[in-house]
Amino acid sequence: MGHGARSVLVSGGGIAGSTAAYWLAKAGWSVTVVERAADTRSSGNPIDVRGGAVAIARQMGIWSPLEAAATGVERLVFVDADGRPQATIPTRRRLDRHEEVEVARNELVGLLLEKAQETSLIIRDDSITALHQDGGGIDVEFQRTPSRRFDLLVGSDGLHSTVRRLAFGPKSVLPAHSACSWAPCAALRRSRIRVPCCCTTNREPP
Ligand SMILES: Cc1cc2nc3c(=O)[nH]c(=O)nc-3n(C[C@H](O)[C@H](O)[C@H](O)COP(=O)(O)OP(=O)(O)OC[C@H]3O[C@@H](n4cnc5c(N)ncnc54)[C@H](O)[C@@H]3O)c2cc1C
Repeated sequence: MGHGARSVLVSGGGIAGSTAAYWLAKAGWSVTVVERAADTRSSGNPIDVRGGAVAIARQMGIWSPLEAAATGVERLVFVDADGRPQATIPTRRRLDRHEEVEVARNELVGLLLEKAQETSLIIRDDSITALHQDGGGIDVEFQRTPSRRFDLLVGSDGLHSTVRRLAFGPKSVLPAHSACSWAPCAALRRSRIRVPCCCTTNREPP
């Protein structure tokens, strides 16, 4: 990172934010990441890394650690009150495919953030509170960190993005419904279990 490098603030050190930070720094930007969480968040849901993401993971040098962290889970099984399987969701498209891996979210984020940390300043336990943009850049106010000016701001702070709200207004916040309920709903609908879980989406599950 040389003198006079353009500065960018990445809000959110998740999958998108830490990856963006890594590549922006590689492209010569002076990168700061602000992440709301003080520590690594809990494992949460497993994430499949496949397709184009594999090449990116290889280029970032995290493919081998990802393989080592693989969950090895091949399917989710829904059981009834007596423990009898009622429906399954395969978590790998093809069991013979080597070019994909399922890892716990915290493993993936931890590895990506570690890579970003090599070239970026990571501010934890903080969040943007206000933005003031003009022709030359953007002044950013934080909850804890003193205000700073950046050339560019990247909003990668998740579904309920603070950047989106501050930049485009409260109406820009996304509706709560998402495709996430489709797969379980589809599996349960094919099963004998009667559930109203798909009622909240306005699209039919695949
Ligand atoms: C059940 C489930 C299964 C999924 N499976 C897969 C899969 O197999 N493969 C796949 O590719 N994708 C999968 N996804 C989608 C994937 O999880 C998302 O696309 C991905 O997490 C989006 O990453 P992100 O970095 O944009 O957002 P997030 O992962 O939500 O990260 C946002 C980050 O911003 C931080 N943040 C939030 N607000 C602020 C703030 N105000 N200031 C600073 N930081 C903030 C958060 O702490 C977090 O670290 C799945 C999603 C779900 C829910």
